Amino acid sequence: MTPVAPSPPEPAGVSTNLAVPSSALAVGAHPDDVEFGCGATLAKWASGGCRVHHLICTDGSKGSWDPNENIAQLVAVRQHEQREAALALGADGEVVFLGQTDGELEATLPLRAELAYWIRRLRPEVVFGHDPWRRYRLHPDHRHAGFLLTDSIVAARDPHFFAEQDAAPHRPSALLLWEADEPNHVEDVAGFVDAKLAALLKHRSQFRSTMGIEDPEATDDVDEFRTRVRQRLTEHGGLAGLPAGEAFRLLKDR
Ligand SMILES: [Zn+2]
Repeated sequence: MTPVAPSPPEPAGVSTNLAVPSSALAVGAHPDDVEFGCGATLAKWASGGCRVHHLICTDGSKGSWDPNENIAQLVAVRQHEQREAALALGADGEVVFLGQTDGELEATLPLRAELAYWIRRLRPEVVFGHDPWRRYRLHPDHRHAGFLLTDSIVAARDPHFFAEQDAAPHRPSALLLWEADEPNHVEDVAGFVDAKLAALLKHRSQFRSTMGIEDPEATDDVDEFRTRVRQRLTEHGGLAGLPAGEAFRLLKDR
């Protein structure tokens, strides 16, 4: 008798691969956060027919190490880069900019109303954002963007919150938080790693300050960045026994 090889055990408590939703909204603090957090998953879903929207909370005006930077120009460049990055993912939805000052984002009531309005208007089936409960996180914008999103989801789903809004309540079916403190879900992104990298590399103004690419013409610098991103996807995939993945905290509506 031939012994049957045991199938590898499913890692405890980690789910994989939601069904491709009809629409998704990714909410980042800065231009580039969405591509780092969930770019490969968005590319996968876009290729499967999902309408993908971006919403960026701040203007990205602190994203330069040059003290003499022309800030108005930087903001315009970063919006252009974000639109290009969305296209590189295959996203055909809206790219919304709330225009808050970079570094000074707060999860205020007026901003909660604004984001709740966008959730009601775009009506995404699945929403992505920063995990506000990630421990030892220093950047305040990422923490505030996370709380702003979770607070706005609660407001968007019931009719007596911001009842003056000219948009019907909307209840997304799932929320996926990237940079999760305790990930419990992995999306298999095999085949979509290059799309994530291509989208990230559209954020050219961030090469030096965020991506460690001193010289964009030096292929070594760019290759090192690609390797770091690939390593991260390998680590995340490993949580579910996959070669490449993006890990999240999944919260399902109940
Ligand atoms: Zn950021």
